[in-house]
Amino acid sequence: MDANPANFPDADGRLRMQDPRKQYPQPPFSKQPQPAPGLAQDMDPKPDHGETSYRGSGKLEGRKALVTGGDSGIGRAAAIAFAREGADVAIVYTPSEEKDAREVIELIEAEGRKALALPGDIKDQAFCKTLVDEAVRELGGLDILVNNAGKQKTQPEIGDVTAEQFDHTMKTNLYAMFWITKAAADHLPAGASIINTASVQAYKPSEGLLDYATTKAGIVAFTKALSKQMIKKGVRANVVAPGPFWTALQPSGGQTQEMVEKFGEESTFGRPGQPVELAPIFVLLASQEGSYVTGEVYSATGGSEAVA
Ligand code: NAD
Ligand code: MG
Repeated sequence: MDANPANFPDADGRLRMQDPRKQYPQPPFSKQPQPAPGLAQDMDPKPDHGETSYRGSGKLEGRKALVTGGDSGIGRAAAIAFAREGADVAIVYTPSEEKDAREVIELIEAEGRKALALPGDIKDQAFCKTLVDEAVRELGGLDILVNNAGKQKTQPEIGDVTAEQFDHTMKTNLYAMFWITKAAADHLPAGASIINTASVQAYKPSEGLLDYATTKAGIVAFTKALSKQMIKKGVRANVVAPGPFWTALQPSGGQTQEMVEKFGEESTFGRPGQPVELAPIFVLLASQEGSYVTGEVYSATGGSEAVA
């Protein structure tokens, strides 16, 4: 997945110190349109989800995790890292992403962990209930819930945002998070962790992401309110807010192809983040090492101004 030899751990499992600006590919990238949701395996260059670079150290031994959108991008990086840290992992994705999902299932199983594939459409309320029930039954409980699946479709003006698009963005990014969290809440024991993926868009919305940015601000507010309820059961809830990350979301309609060509250029790193660069943040928030962290937004925006 990664051409930079410095990103492979040495014989002792350590990563070398290096200039983070040069660590991963920089723009220009080629135009690469895909239908949504896109496939990570069809991207050029392929994203680094930690397949070769993430090393675990038992931080999540025996935990049971559910990651929506765990087939690709940020969710895949979290799923791989969780498995390498010792967790069993269920991933949710749409049936059209089966090829990406299979790779993740194999990577989880290669760690000797249980992997559960849950294909379906989270815009469907009944599926959101079913997927939680199935994860709890098959994994034998639930300790980590990551609401990460998302829809992003750029449009130049409000007149171009159809009622159907607005509805699908709300259902995927907000309603599903509500339905899944509601179904999971009673299963989560003290010490469990909920992590919701928002975005820098919650704070610095782009003009072309009207509906998407609205949902991301909603995810932050939802999680902060939820954290106050859940801590009464000893459960923490936090947000991860990424800046530009090299994932299938972007070339499959999240950005225009012209924006894809220079994706990440505006960050102070001059490049987009790679999904693996978020993995340690998900692990920290999921693990007992994050024991005093709740209701917080953990940003990795590429040097954009602090957002929370
Ligand atoms: P991605 O396309 O790899 O992952 C998104 C996943 O959402 C897909 O893999 C798909 O499985 C899932 N999904 C979408 N609609 C679904 C549906 N109806 N039913 C079931 N699953 C569905 O892209 P990503 O960038 O890794 O996205 C993960 C999260 O990160 C999203 O919430 C996105 O908004 C957020 N995010 C991404 C960026 C970025 O620059 N890539 C920046 C900020 C936030
Ligand atoms: Mg995907």
